[in-house]
Amino acid sequence: MSFADLGLSPELLQAVEESGYTTPTPIQQQAIPVVLMGRDVLGCAQTGTGKTASFTLPMIEILAAGRAKARMPRSLILAPTRELAAQVAENFDKYGKYHKLNKALIIGGESMSDQIAILDRGVDVLIATPGRLLDMFDRGRILLNDVKVLVIDEADRMLDMGFIPDVQRIVSMLPKMRQTLFFSATLGPEIRKLADEFLMNPKEISV
Ligand code: AMP
Repeated sequence: MSFADLGLSPELLQAVEESGYTTPTPIQQQAIPVVLMGRDVLGCAQTGTGKTASFTLPMIEILAAGRAKARMPRSLILAPTRELAAQVAENFDKYGKYHKLNKALIIGGESMSDQIAILDRGVDVLIATPGRLLDMFDRGRILLNDVKVLVIDEADRMLDMGFIPDVQRIVSMLPKMRQTLFFSATLGPEIRKLADEFLMNPKEISV
């Protein structure tokens, strides 16, 4: 199977080719068509399996049409650490080079005023750690009513780090009508319970 079989646009296929990838990984083969159809995904995949591209590629496709309003991101990716959030942001830059999507990285340890200015310009893709996102929300700098796609990346690490109450608060502020992609390296009972809470009729993919 090649990337061209997955339903991605020529611009994305070009960006993928320039990344040097020739064959989609198993999680990419299984998740990309399902995400493009608009379905929720429960993905059990570790780092190193190519899981980041399995959601960034179809999200770029989904978000290509449409425009973000000030302070109202159109998609939200929650990651447990600044490093992981930064890696996800790099993926959007790499694969989104032929698309005009605005992106914001809202993580601790970076200037809040810079982040606020970016949010005010309108972002298609907001990548955040839960604590800093809530901080921005509580300051009235972000509205979450326009989020069409939510990604929860490394849910098991979120759980280990005690971030689940923050994540639950964030998800409670999102529209009920949305697409949710939930990834975890393990699927124990607590993670499954969370997945049930956040996902609607997901396609389960384990690699
Ligand atoms: P991830 O699991 O998303 O952290 O990705 C792990 C590594 O695999 C990253 O360095 C990616 O750049 C790389 N990668 C992702 N997809 C592919 C692919 N289809 N072929 C080769 N490398 C890939």
